[in-house]
Amino acid sequence: MIKIIKNVKVYQPQYMGVKDILIVGDKIGGIDDGISANFENGVEVSIIDGSGKLAVPGFIDSHVHILGGGGEGGFKTRTPEIKLTDLTTAGITTVVGCLGTDGVTRNMMSLLAKARGLEEEGITTFIYTGSYRIPVTTITGGVMEDLMAIDKIIGVGEIAISDHRSSQPTLEEFSRVAADARVGGMLAGKAGILDIHLGDGPKMIDLILKTVEETEIPITQFLPTHINRSSHLFEAGIEFARKGGCIDMTGTDDPEFLDPDEIRVGKGMKRLLMEGISEDNFTLSSDAQGSLPIFNEKKEYIGIGVGTAACLWNEIRDCIQKEEIPFEIAIKAITSNPARMLKLRNKGRLEPGYDADLCLLKEDTLDIDTVIAKGRVMVKDGKPVVFGTFEN
Ligand code: ZN
Repeated sequence: MIKIIKNVKVYQPQYMGVKDILIVGDKIGGIDDGISANFENGVEVSIIDGSGKLAVPGFIDSHVHILGGGGEGGFKTRTPEIKLTDLTTAGITTVVGCLGTDGVTRNMMSLLAKARGLEEEGITTFIYTGSYRIPVTTITGGVMEDLMAIDKIIGVGEIAISDHRSSQPTLEEFSRVAADARVGGMLAGKAGILDIHLGDGPKMIDLILKTVEETEIPITQFLPTHINRSSHLFEAGIEFARKGGCIDMTGTDDPEFLDPDEIRVGKGMKRLLMEGISEDNFTLSSDAQGSLPIFNEKKEYIGIGVGTAACLWNEIRDCIQKEEIPFEIAIKAITSNPARMLKLRNKGRLEPGYDADLCLLKEDTLDIDTVIAKGRVMVKDGKPVVFGTFEN
């Protein structure tokens, strides 16, 4: 029930100093100097030594194909489902699942079931309703209904635009979905965010900008992702962020699947900061289990890879170690920023009353050492905890 992490450098994301963190059940009970707990009535207190470690909020990954995705090269190229330990060993304690190109053989009911399964295993999960396509394929028959009736649904996505795989939505179709997401989100007390997949088409983010221009829907209703896909798209993303929008970069682990023109996350983040973009206006997601199909210039399929959840922290670590971006700023992209954009209550910060989701990193290497999700130790010494064998 009660855990105390002793003498750890706490990043809220802001640096608080060397403190003790009290965890009571699934919540952070306090962060202070010299916390001690003396119970005479048999309440067990476990002490975790935090010396030589940094405590950061558990990571939030806002775009993962938890059910698998792909299929762009035929059925044999469908990608596999994610496992709990793929996420926990990557420090991810909150994940938002989405479908992708295939919204036919992969459907919302299976996505919801997969999200529930991961939640039962100990992390926090949400999903977006829909797939690449408009009309949006929902559970209840409508975007507003899904947002209002199903707790796990916090937005719509990933809707594809500017991509040869998209449903080529018109401005009217796209604005209608955005309107439903906005109003449904308001009524349900959720973000109602539209997670927008951007392809490499020349129209880039035009459809989002036109919607913002011609309707009353604010720019903050949209979270365009894969913004670092190409240098042109990234430039458009900078303008989008300048207008107050939030942009999402996609991490990658395998340089083989990096488009020649793709912007690495570290370089991208550095550029955004240099351009004066607010450190609150960008996020990073892994696109894990998504397919990384390679098409030639005629849009013919030539090969495929699979995204990994591990890239999320690897990219942020590169931002810190290689690009020398301040630690407190870099970690916001996978903690407090997505929590705010997606309106995830009690997530993304280390503060009393917040969920006890946190990672302990080794100070010298920034390797993930311990991961705690809702007060439960999921990863210890960098290895997944086998429940029933270790104390947790
Ligand atoms: Zn995508």
